[in-house]
Amino acid sequence: MKLTNTPMTEHQFAGIPFYLKRDDQLHSHFSGNKARKFMALLEQDYPEVTTLISYGSAQSNSLYSLAALAAIKGWKLEFYVDRIPQWLADKPLGNYRGALELGAQIIATAAHQLHPQQYIDQIRQPDSTCLFLPEGGRSHLAKHGVEQLAREILSWTRYEPGNKVVVALPAGTGATALYLHRYLKAHSIPVLTCPCVGGKDYLISQFKELGESDFPDILELETKHHFAKLYEKDYQIWQQLLIETDVEFDLLYDPMMWQCLQSWYKENRDKRIIYIHQGGLLGNESMLPRYERKFGQCFGGRK
Ligand SMILES: *Cc1c(COP(=O)(O)O)cnc(C)c1O
Repeated sequence: MKLTNTPMTEHQFAGIPFYLKRDDQLHSHFSGNKARKFMALLEQDYPEVTTLISYGSAQSNSLYSLAALAAIKGWKLEFYVDRIPQWLADKPLGNYRGALELGAQIIATAAHQLHPQQYIDQIRQPDSTCLFLPEGGRSHLAKHGVEQLAREILSWTRYEPGNKVVVALPAGTGATALYLHRYLKAHSIPVLTCPCVGGKDYLISQFKELGESDFPDILELETKHHFAKLYEKDYQIWQQLLIETDVEFDLLYDPMMWQCLQSWYKENRDKRIIYIHQGGLLGNESMLPRYERKFGQCFGGRK
C-alpha cells in the first residue's frame, strides 16, 4: 500500500498569499505528518509482526495515527501512557476516542510506579512478534516518508519557476522540518520552522540527536509560549485561518507558526510560502472545547 501526492491548494491569510500542501488529506485515518513519519512501516512487510507497541500521551496525534496504521496492517496496537485522565476515561474524545474506535489497547503505567518506556522494557518485554516504536516517531524511520513529501513538493515547484518558494511548518520534535530541510536544501528551497515544544535550544538539541548538523531556519515569538497551554491569540489566529481559508488547521502547532510567519513576511514579501498542513485535526476535538470554555464560542461558528 502506498499513499502519496496530496493536493496543493492556494489561499490568502492576513494579506499573505500562500500554497497549502494538504497532508491532512493523505488518508481518512492515516494522515498528516505522523502518517508521513510512519509511512516506511506501512510500505514494508513484517511477516512475523502481530503487535505494534509504542508509548506517549493519551491525547496525542501519534496514538491515533498508530492505531490507524495497526488497523490497516491487521496488527494489534498496545499504546502505553503514564495515566489516562479521569475526565477522558469517562467521556473519550479526540485522538483517544479515535484510537479506541480503531481497536487500540491503551494502557496506563503510573499505577505500577513505572514510566511507560520502563514498563515496556521491564514488564512487557516485546518479543520478535512485536514492533516497538519510540515516542512520537522520533527516529530515523521518519526520514523515508518525509523524503517522499519533499519529492512531492519539489516536483510541484517545477511548475512555479518564477516564484521564490519557502516551505513552512511548525516543529514538535522537529524531525519533519529537519528531514524536509535535508532534502530540499540541495534544491535551494529554504525550510522555516518554529519550536512549539521547548524553545530554540531544545529544538536544536533535538536536531543534533538525529545526527544532523545543518538545520532549518528557526523563527521565534518574542514572548515565551508553552506547549498545549491556551492562548487567546492562538485561538483568534485559528479562527481567522478558518474564516479566510475555509480550511481547519490544528490548534496545537499551527497558530504559533502563523504568528511567526506574520512577522517574517513583513521582510520577505517577495517569497511564496508553501505551508505544510500536518493534520492533527482529531486533536482539535479535545482542544476546541477547552478554548471555548476559556474564551467563548468561535465567532461565526465551526463548520
Ligand atoms: C506531531 C505534529 C507536529 C510536529 O511534528 P515533528 O516532526 O515532531 O516536529 C506538528 N503538527 C502536527 C499536526 C503534528 O501532529
